[in-house]
Amino acid sequence: MDHREILRHYGIRAQKSLGQNFLVNDEILETIADSIDITGKDILEIGPGYGALTEKILTRKPKSLTLIELDKQMINILNSRIYEKDLVIPEETEFTIIEGDVLKQSPVMASYSVIANIPYYITSPILFRFLHELENKPDEMIILMQKEVGDKICEKKWYHHSYLSLALEFSCETIEEICLVEKGNFIPAPKIDSSVLYFKRKEGYDIAEAKRFLSITSAGFTSPRKKLLSNLANALHIPKDTLLASFKQIGLLETARAEELGIEKWNELIKLIP
Ligand code: SAM
Repeated sequence: MDHREILRHYGIRAQKSLGQNFLVNDEILETIADSIDITGKDILEIGPGYGALTEKILTRKPKSLTLIELDKQMINILNSRIYEKDLVIPEETEFTIIEGDVLKQSPVMASYSVIANIPYYITSPILFRFLHELENKPDEMIILMQKEVGDKICEKKWYHHSYLSLALEFSCETIEEICLVEKGNFIPAPKIDSSVLYFKRKEGYDIAEAKRFLSITSAGFTSPRKKLLSNLANALHIPKDTLLASFKQIGLLETARAEELGIEKWNELIKLIP
């Protein structure tokens, strides 16, 4: 069945509260599935919906595919599609559906990749959870997100640095835009365009160092319009004079704002903060 037939056959009405916008362009779905090696790997798909992307993942024969979906109705549809052989699970693939909130799940696979076309409102929580908080983090992730957030993460030249872009740069060795997805490729069409980003996680960075990086940079961004010096002094309870001496040591102006510092400057500054 094609996408419109599936939507009609199962009487699917997208739930706005669950961020349901179904991607119905097969070429784009193939591009997403082609952007990482799937064959023989352990894959986690977040928010499969009725299985548009799931289908493309399955044809590439992963070693295992785990789906996490919050909406029981979608899980019933996935099971019906499997039963009706509209969605075919290859013999070599271990297949699991988990009903639940992805932000409350902790994957158990030793090494895995994440693929997700997720609701816009949980993009940042998912990125933080999978790239910073989880003990068992994925090797790589492909995430479809609001284009504006994708542009900020990739720090396209019209954006300054943000807490999110720095946090991701800290934990990833590669962050790449795979493709743009115009809003007309979804049913129902959202108000904004999307982009698909690829994240390759860095191996073996120090967890304590990551925590310190996140807590100091987030302190720096407390009030983005205020000076970095004031934000850090207030949040970290460090006298301004002490901080200013560190600023001078690394050539930072007293008037600098958090968004003006790239990751290298942050690392220099963090080394000097007690
Ligand atoms: N992947 C499908 C596609 O490409 O057409 C559906 C995408 S739709 C934007 C997002 C999906 O995520 C929906 O099926 C929705 O029910 C599910 N979802 C929303 N919040 C979730 C959560 N917290 N945990 C897991 N799934 C969630």
